[in-house]
Amino acid sequence: MGVHMQILIAILLGIKRNWHIFFGLIAGIVVGILFPASSYPVAHKILDITGQAFINIIQMVVIPLVISAIVIGISSIGDNKQLAKFGKKMIFYYTIITVAAVAIGAILALVMKPGLNAQSFISPDVAQEMQGYVSSTIAEQQSNLAGIFLGLIPKNPFHALSTGDMIPIIIFVLIFSIALAKIGEINRPVVSFFESIFAATMKVTDWIMYLAAPGVFALTAASVSSFGISMFEGVWRYFLVLVLGVIIQFFFVYPMMLKIFSKVPVGKLYTAITEAIMVAFGTASSSATLPLTITCCEKRGISSKICSFVLPLGATLNMDGTALMQTVAVIFLAQTYGIELSLILILQIAFLAIIASSTCAGIPGAGLITIALVLNGIGLTPEQLVIGFSFLFALERLADMLRTTANVASDAVVAAIIADNENEINYELLNNDTYKDIV
Ligand code: ASP
Repeated sequence: MGVHMQILIAILLGIKRNWHIFFGLIAGIVVGILFPASSYPVAHKILDITGQAFINIIQMVVIPLVISAIVIGISSIGDNKQLAKFGKKMIFYYTIITVAAVAIGAILALVMKPGLNAQSFISPDVAQEMQGYVSSTIAEQQSNLAGIFLGLIPKNPFHALSTGDMIPIIIFVLIFSIALAKIGEINRPVVSFFESIFAATMKVTDWIMYLAAPGVFALTAASVSSFGISMFEGVWRYFLVLVLGVIIQFFFVYPMMLKIFSKVPVGKLYTAITEAIMVAFGTASSSATLPLTITCCEKRGISSKICSFVLPLGATLNMDGTALMQTVAVIFLAQTYGIELSLILILQIAFLAIIASSTCAGIPGAGLITIALVLNGIGLTPEQLVIGFSFLFALERLADMLRTTANVASDAVVAAIIADNENEINYELLNNDTYKDIV
């Protein structure tokens, strides 16, 4: 092997894995642009399968991790009063972050008017293609509100486990864990059992993270290669509003929250969770990223008591990026069709976006399904809805990757704030710049 090659390998091995993933991301964008799926279908397929394999591998640990984390978290919190206090704080901070997201989304969309002139770009072909999918999704969502609600209550926890329905799983595990905490010492064997499961799944996560750079590369390349520049026609303003909204969340809302409610330095927290943010971007799934979010936060000093309670719940309930996208998307469609947006209607959209986003699963594309709940209110005809959806679909994957980074980062921000408030954060670990890598 040549000297140059040896030096290159030494450098690559010596730098933090954050950078490996970052290079994977950038290389993915470059390769995706250079090799569009339309001209290189085989390469696109290979990248797509590789990326999907990576998502499957991380998802493999999500359910055992969520269950064991919540059991340990709640049994270590122990008494009901403390649990209620954590729960209230969590809901309070998650709500503020999501309200800020919808407010920012609404203001940006009203000022930048992404829907203006968009109608002239509507492609009848795409609209036709979407017809079946959209009509059934919307009909299902609208007629089935009671069903959606009932579906959250786990009739059979094992069924929920086998289908990977996170909200019913979490509800069951929460109730079960509170009961475990209540029965006292007799819970020891079960808690120790879950402690072992947790430790083992964290170990597996460490191993999986060696695959993060190639995984993120493949996912990003596959997504970018399926976009044509023409897809931005008509929707580029919508996309720009989303990008700006997410940037404001990252550089204004989260730092402000950290400053007002805690003494956690934002830079240190962002450094700690960089890998999780990049994997969130690649996978477009908060649930799939969860093992890594927990690993990043715990290894940089946020106690496992807080991480194991706040992060799994956040990965399913706290979707500020999704709420932002849903608000912007609905205002965009209203503008496209010239529907007048009164203050009441805007508030209604914002409120519904908060509800719809929190019922949305942490998986790719879920936000564009629960959006039907928000669309319900703005009075579009079924045809307009279908065409509108086809618009949103054009950039859906990219928009999803973007909003998922916010969904994941805000979970970590809230976990850090609560950990700070409760003296459950090790600042030495968080502030340690010489700290090498998380594995
Ligand atoms: N993909 C998002 C997430 O996993 C959910 C969405 O579709 O908005 O957080």
